[in-house]
Formats: sequence, C-alpha cells, structure tokens
Amino acid sequence: MDGARLAGSVVDALAARAGAADRDGELPGADLDDLRAAGLFGLLVPARLGGAGGGFADWADAARVLAAGSGATALVLNMHTSVVGALAGTPDGLARTMGAPESFFAARDRMLARAAAGEFIAVAMSERGAGSRLSELRTRYRREDGGYRITGVKSFCSGASHADVYFVAARAEDAAPDAAPDADGGAARISHFLVPRGAGVSVEPAWDTLGMRGTGSHDVRFDVRVPAEALVGGLEGLSSLVAQVMPQWLVASYAAVYAGVGRAAFDAGVAHARARRTAGMPGGLAALPAVRARFGHADAALAALDAVVDECARRVDADPGSASTNRWVWRAKLLAGRTAQDVAASVVEACGTAVTRRGHPLERLYRDARCGSLQPATTDVCADWLGLAALGGDPEADADVARW
Ligand SMILES: Cc1cc2nc3c(=O)[nH]c(=O)nc-3n(C[C@H](O)[C@H](O)[C@H](O)COP(=O)(O)OP(=O)(O)OC[C@H]3O[C@@H](n4cnc5c(N)ncnc54)[C@H](O)[C@@H]3O)c2cc1C
Repeated sequence: MDGARLAGSVVDALAARAGAADRDGELPGADLDDLRAAGLFGLLVPARLGGAGGGFADWADAARVLAAGSGATALVLNMHTSVVGALAGTPDGLARTMGAPESFFAARDRMLARAAAGEFIAVAMSERGAGSRLSELRTRYRREDGGYRITGVKSFCSGASHADVYFVAARAEDAAPDAAPDADGGAARISHFLVPRGAGVSVEPAWDTLGMRGTGSHDVRFDVRVPAEALVGGLEGLSSLVAQVMPQWLVASYAAVYAGVGRAAFDAGVAHARARRTAGMPGGLAALPAVRARFGHADAALAALDAVVDECARRVDADPGSASTNRWVWRAKLLAGRTAQDVAASVVEACGTAVTRRGHPLERLYRDARCGSLQPATTDVCADWLGLAALGGDPEADADVARW
C-alpha cells in the first residue's frame, strides 16, 4: 500500500482547481471524483472490505502529497479518513471492552465497504458557540420508533454540499449542557451517528472565512430520524471515551495536512525567489542573506515537522492509544499548526508584497496555513495537554475545563 503514490496520481488535478475553489469558497465536486477514482476514500478500509488496507502512516504520506496541490481538499479527505480510520483502526477487543454490542461489527463493516466503494463522509461535530467541544454541544438526540431522532445545527462542516453521509455528534435529550456536570464535565451522554444525506438534512451555505476556503465548510441543519444501526459503536455515550483512547483521529490526522501546506508555501516561495530578477540585483532574492536565512530556518523547521509526523504515524500504527504514542499525537498537531503558519509568514516576508496579490499561490497558502493552529485541538490546547503531562499530571483528567 502506497498512500503517496495514490495521492500523486491526482495532485496535479487538485492543484489546477485550488485557486478557483479558494475564490468561490466551495469544494470542487471534481476533486472528490478524482479522490474516489483513485481509491482514496478506501485508503484505510481493510482489503477484505474492498479498501486499500492502509494505516495511519499511509494517510500521513497521502495527506502531505495532496496538500501540496490543495490543502483544502486534503483537509476534506482528512475528515472522511478520520472517521474511517477510527472505525477500521479500533481493535475489536477494545471495542468490546468499551461495551460495543456484537451487532456493531456488522454495521461497521457495511459502512466501511460503502466508503471503499466511494461514499464520502463529512464530519458534523462543531457548532457555533461550542466549537468542537463535545461537552458543550447543543444538538440533541432521542429514541424514536426503534431508532433515533436528531435535531440541531452544525457549523464548519467541510465538504457539506457533497456529503453522502454526515458523522454527527449529539447529546442525549435528557443530558442538558446546563445540568450539573458529571465526572467528565458533561460529555458522558454524547454519541455519534452516521446520518445519510436526504430528507431532514439541509446544507445552509454560510462559509466565508479567511483560509481553507475551498473546503466549503457550510452549516448543516438536522431534523431527522435514523435507524438504530446509525449509532456509532452501537452504544450511547462513547464519543468522549473514543476521543481519549484514540486521539489520533481527532487530534493528529490534521498534522500531515498542515505539514503539506507548509511545504507547499516553502516551494512556492523558492520558485518566486529564484525567478525574481531586477537590474540592480542580478542575483535575485537569493543574493540577499536575510532572504536566504528565512528559507534556511523554514527548511529546518519543515524537516523537523516531517520527522515528528512520521514518528507519530509509526507509533500510531505500532502501538495505538498507548501513553507514549499519545504524546507524539499531541506533539505532531502542535508542531504542524505552528510550523505551517510560521513558515508561510516568513516566506511571504522573504518574497515581498508581490506574492500577496490575489491569485498568487502564496497568498492562498498563507491564509490556509493560518488555520492549522485553530483547528482542534488548537495549539494552545495541545500545549496545555503536553505541559500537564510533562509536569506529572493527567492531561485528560486534570485540565481546568473538560478537554472535549
Ligand atoms: C478550515 C476548517 C475546517 C473545519 N472543518 C470542520 C469539519 O469538517 N467538521 C467539524 O465538525 N468542524 C470543522 N471545523 C471546526 C473546527 O474543527 C473547530 O471546531 C472550530 O474551529 C472551533 O471553533 P471556535 O471558534 O469555537 O474555537 P474553539 O476551538 O472553541 O477555541 C476558542 C478558544 O478556546 C480555546 N479552547 C478550546 N477548547 C479548549 C479546551 N478544552 N480547554 C482550554 N481551551 C480551549 C482555544 O484554544 C481557543 O483559544 C473546521 C474548522 C476550520 C477552520
């Protein structure tokens, strides 16, 4: 399995559409067609279910290649892949320990087979006013006619206009966020559902933001009944437990995307600096020591980030969920968010105002790179988690507010 090779077969096509996607604030449907045709929706689906049977490292490789063409489309695929990866990568034994009933395994396999066949899953977790904090969510669910009714409005749902299925987080109706907090700060009755597109699901175009504009991350309104098997894990209240046990899918899968965005900004800056010539400066920008130093710092920072992303991926594949693996998960996310934006900002400064014109790739990449630190877990939250661990605390339990 070679994630980089699959991604390499589509990256030029994504790059050709990235500028228009950024201008329009919408994910090109043709990008999804290309990802689907290359088999990338099934990258992490086991071969027995029709997928490529890849692991976290395959995704880390693919994401970096895709992000060189379009960070936004790589980010959309990250959302899909994080759901597929969490379902395919949670060992059956661990799922049983968490309480998953036997019926869950057949439902999971059907969903994974559909993903391998080309079904696109969008993540509908965040809400206005709550962000992605599970303990703050307002979207509700209740039992109805042997299944569940889900009501609420989600925000920032990447690829919303094109989704076949939405991965929706919701709170049990009798577990109000303003009720007295339980041991985990109120997240105990949060569950995830796989909700097909159709009646009761409407996309509300609302996406007009600074960066990663090509993700088309619109609001989505739900007032929909789903069958019992739509409950992920087959058991209510699993969401925050999975976030703690398998943080790679909520925290670190973004890291490779932003490593790719940082690398793309560097490459665009190198191309500009090498091409720039004026009469008074025949050696171009490369003749200026301050410019060279900026590229030198960026080169070292990106190489270090790649090494951390690779180490994180290696450990997630070899020893998922262990305390030492999880430290690498949080390190990778922190460093990716910070490095991408630092590199992009410094490269823009080295190249000058010419690259800030609308339509120049660096102008888009600079804005895209700014998003890495803001996506969960934010750089500040990652630093708090790692600092608590370093100082001997329990980074999940000892935070001042619920981690999720
Ligand atoms: C390009 C892009 C695409 C996205 N795509 C999706 C998607 O497909 N699906 C989806 O569900 N969401 C998506 N999101 C939303 C994203 O995942 C976050 O949930 C959202 O950005 C949070 O927004 P917020 O403004 O409420 O900030 P918050 O994340 O709530 O942060 C606000 C402040 O609170 C701090 N903070 C947050 N949590 C804690 C904590 N536990 N402890 C201490 N401090 C904390 C932060 O560091 C920050 O300073 C996307 C976001 C972007 C930018």
